[in-house]
Amino acid sequence: MQTSETQVADLVRKILEQMSIAPSTPQGDGLYPTVDAAVEAAIVAQRQLLELSLEKRGEIIANIRCRVLEANKRVAAMAVEETHLGRVEDKIRENILCVEKTPGIEDIRPVALSGDHGLMLLEYAPVGVIGALTPITNPTGTFINNTIGMVAAGNAVVFNCHPSAKETSREMIRLLHGAIVEAGGPAGLIGMAFEPNLDTANALVAHPKVNMLVATGGKGVVDVVLRSGKKAIGAGAGNPPCLVDETANIRRAAEAITNGASVNNNIFCICEKEVIVVQEVEDALIKFMQETGKVYLLSPEEAERVTKLVVVDGHINGSYIGRNVQVILKDAGITVNDACRLAIFRAEADHPLVWLEQMMPVLPIVRVKNVKEGIAFGVKVEKGNRHTAIMHSTNIDNLTAFARAVQTTIFVKNAPCYAGIGLGGEGHTSFTIAGPTGEGLTSARTFTRQRRCTLAESFRII
Ligand code: NAD
Repeated sequence: MQTSETQVADLVRKILEQMSIAPSTPQGDGLYPTVDAAVEAAIVAQRQLLELSLEKRGEIIANIRCRVLEANKRVAAMAVEETHLGRVEDKIRENILCVEKTPGIEDIRPVALSGDHGLMLLEYAPVGVIGALTPITNPTGTFINNTIGMVAAGNAVVFNCHPSAKETSREMIRLLHGAIVEAGGPAGLIGMAFEPNLDTANALVAHPKVNMLVATGGKGVVDVVLRSGKKAIGAGAGNPPCLVDETANIRRAAEAITNGASVNNNIFCICEKEVIVVQEVEDALIKFMQETGKVYLLSPEEAERVTKLVVVDGHINGSYIGRNVQVILKDAGITVNDACRLAIFRAEADHPLVWLEQMMPVLPIVRVKNVKEGIAFGVKVEKGNRHTAIMHSTNIDNLTAFARAVQTTIFVKNAPCYAGIGLGGEGHTSFTIAGPTGEGLTSARTFTRQRRCTLAESFRII
């Protein structure tokens, strides 16, 4: 077996760590023996970043975009291999989306206001060092998206990834840190403890020199950062309902739902997690979904077998999260062809997969009498996450009624869920969608402090 340079470096680092000695490469690679070491390096690097011009900051962001694209296939494959979540081809799309549609320094353009009383200038200043906790589901996308946004705003960032995505996350740190340094940015501007775990997460949350926390994950981690006493941004779990009424273009809706619910095997927090359909169009919707050639309709008996497999003691069985539909169905004794991407079934309103965030390509479809009942049910199953909802309809009143009732951060009309994060839809992308704390689709400006400078009675040119 051949040992790569990276593996040797990791081995050396582990030995040095056990001896409490930090490796002494001149610029480092962004990986540190402790959270404290990463934070100290980040503080120095952030000061250095502010001494560079904005133009240079723009060049750093441009180089990040460039180097990530070059490494895209490699890191996408690595993420799927390590976490067993999602699909390589969809991770590649995810990374391209983050590279192309995460706003850079243009997002922190200042605002100037002049009037009878002079001039007011509003600037978006950095917060300093950000602690970012990242989910297992998107180790590549979240790192790219957070790094571009946070650095564009003039911050340094210390990450703590999910331990089960640590190899990919380390590689992302090396890649992004390398791109920053290569473009003339300061070493240490992004970093992570080499061995990320719950202890390092807690150390980061409690670190007195970390100025802001950003949690992307489930309710647990969002609660942790909100209790920290620091400025915190929480991007939490969702259970997006997708409502289809009788006025929808049913074939288009069927295609959109198939593509949205199966993207990356449903691990995106925004994916359609249950379909609610008005009874008169239920059969047509299912038929058109089957006609895509990507969908398998489970019989009631098959659906029961699959449910027993993927829901255990009222919780989602983690070993099926993000897996290909073939893998899940095979364990339930069902064989489907390679083109299949999604299993669907007719579900009762109280079915556990309607209420749990399954994050796998098994989608319940619940029938309702009319759109009014559908809206009320959609609000219930969204469970106040204020995350994402999707609706297929050509009736503006119905669309407006659901959007108003469900109060989600993202509301997608007549498109797959991912249009709401800019993939085939307008607007920038974000992989940290802050529903609980209300910042919405985060971007560079989210990671700033607003500062006002006023010059009274002068400085107007008119
Ligand atoms: P998770 O909550 O288990 O973990 C997320 C991160 O928080 C990890 O780094 C983990 O190590 C850390 N963490 C978890 N509990 C912690 C605690 N008590 N103290 C300190 N750190 C803790 O989530 P996950 O399984 O990695 O990711 C999937 C979840 O993330 C889903 O619920 C999904 O909806 C959500 N998600 C949300 C968004 C969004 O933008 N809103 C984006 C991606 C994923």
